[in-house]
Amino acid sequence: MEKKQFQAESKRLLEMMIHSIYTKHEIFLRELISNASDAIDKLYYKALTDESMTFHADDYFIEISIDEPNRLLTIRDTGIGMTKQEMEDNLGVIAQSGSLAFKKQVAQQEGHALIGQFGVGFYSAFMVADEITVVSQAYGTDVAHRWHSTGADGYTIEPVDAVGVGTSVTLKIRLDTYETAVEQKDESLAYEDYLHAGRIKHIVRKYSDFIRYPIKLDGETINTMVPIWRKNKSELTDDTYMQFYKDKHYGHDVPVRYVHVQADGAVRYQAILYIPSETPFNYFTKDFERGLELYASGVLIMEKCATLLPEHFGFVKGMVDSEDLSLNISREMLQHDRQLLVIARNIKNKIKSNLESLLKDDREKYEQFFKAFGRPLKFGAYNEFGAHKADVQDLLLFYSSTESKLVTLAEYVERMREGQKYIYYATGSSHDRIAKMPQIEALREKGIEMVYLTDDVDEFALKMMRSYADKEFRSISSGDLGLDELLGAQQDTPEQQHDDVFDAVKKVLGDAVHSVRPSQRLRAHPVCLTSEGELTIEMEKVLNNVPNRAPVEAKKVLEVNVQHDVFRALKQAFDADEAKFALYARLLYQQALLIEGLPLEDPVAFSNDVCLVMT
Ligand code: ADP
Repeated sequence: MEKKQFQAESKRLLEMMIHSIYTKHEIFLRELISNASDAIDKLYYKALTDESMTFHADDYFIEISIDEPNRLLTIRDTGIGMTKQEMEDNLGVIAQSGSLAFKKQVAQQEGHALIGQFGVGFYSAFMVADEITVVSQAYGTDVAHRWHSTGADGYTIEPVDAVGVGTSVTLKIRLDTYETAVEQKDESLAYEDYLHAGRIKHIVRKYSDFIRYPIKLDGETINTMVPIWRKNKSELTDDTYMQFYKDKHYGHDVPVRYVHVQADGAVRYQAILYIPSETPFNYFTKDFERGLELYASGVLIMEKCATLLPEHFGFVKGMVDSEDLSLNISREMLQHDRQLLVIARNIKNKIKSNLESLLKDDREKYEQFFKAFGRPLKFGAYNEFGAHKADVQDLLLFYSSTESKLVTLAEYVERMREGQKYIYYATGSSHDRIAKMPQIEALREKGIEMVYLTDDVDEFALKMMRSYADKEFRSISSGDLGLDELLGAQQDTPEQQHDDVFDAVKKVLGDAVHSVRPSQRLRAHPVCLTSEGELTIEMEKVLNNVPNRAPVEAKKVLEVNVQHDVFRALKQAFDADEAKFALYARLLYQQALLIEGLPLEDPVAFSNDVCLVMT
């Protein structure tokens, strides 16, 4: 018989397994039982949708048997089984579910972390066995195959007599030697123990008690079959919830928080919800599918039920089980199911209140969360014309110019000055760059708090929200900053005196700017650009970055600081030298563009202008 080699990564993983990187060897049993249970689920699922199949609950179970003299431990299931090809595909390579991520990370990481992160399942059996035999017959076939491996040197597959649909995995448990005893990291466990019924029972109860099918040993069912979401919260530990997160492949990260809901009201349901700490790599692509697992009376009916999660909380992972839902409800009908909508609303509120309390109780953790998922929350503020504002507005964080850290809108409003009408924000590519913007000079001089927006969605979100606690958001580049009320009336407003100068600048610049005017917000800088109307310059930049979209243009206003020496020079040129005046007007405008991070319309002309000044 030909001996096949494991695929390269599988081989590496296998070697790590054999050298026992898992701290707890005993988890191999959980992995094998979980595979067995998945295999039965698949058959159960088929029966639900295929009328020609009949389903007798008694026919579905997992059976463990021990042959101590021969050191054999067998886990048999009556699940869907595997064909020869499936054995080849599934047992010859790392589990499909984890394989992609595994390949991605194997290059970057070594050993320990890796094993813990992925459901490497089947392979973990090599921690305790030096020989594994799998006999399986797939549903709908009448042949069986036997897969056999003694570890890293590869595996064989051969046909055997039919055994009935299902799979059995037989481990030849390793011999305890002095070396293995030293190697054993697992308290006082010897391999020998895996051949003792008492020990096996203990491990099954510890890890696999909630498995929905009977796990039998010596004719006795040893699991209670109560899923963790139905268990009393007081019986469950943080570890159990974290393990559940991993077992369910919800993510590879450590969630910042979990919530266990056991609702007994108008609609009865249980839910376990997790708030992850890391953004899934495909989160912002169309491949990402949001949703919670949905069970009806303990039976999984949908893997990603989107109805249960609003888009702005689409990062939440977890499951919902309700005995008030019908088992064979179709997906289309489910979206309108009244019970489900009630559950969805409750879940949404639970998520909201939990995020709020995380924000209140553990700011550091919340900021970690916000770093990963602040964007979806801000999109939530923006989407559907701000319909979800109430859900998200208290969850948003923005960088504060005066506090030099992230703050909530509530915190900002609480610190607002007497007479301050607006929540001021400044937009730019980084905090450093914003801090240097000429437009913020006046506010900064007076110590007025601004929030700095650096994410492209930020300004759109604020625009859509319009206000927070009745305080309107106001861009520091917008025409009216309400500074008079705030700072007391400005000194003399010398606009009238210079109308002619500003009109002439506008004439030189033509349609490039909407208007030209003296500035109230500038201090040390001579010039800046602001905008009039709803569309700001930052929004123009963001929108014009979207492909296949007609370009938009903000109504740009060139503001000049009449207190500045540069203005005096401009005025002199205006009175004496037309060519020089035009040159100065162009230069001021071009500098304003550069400060704003906007492209110069004609860089060569700009360079020529600068040369003119120098010569
Ligand atoms: P995972 O369970 O994370 O996918 P495993 O290495 O444990 O990874 O299993 C690999 C694959 O082998 C499973 O996804 C499944 O398709 C198949 N498999 C494993 N055990 C069984 C079983 N008892 N019955 C049917 N298929 C199985």
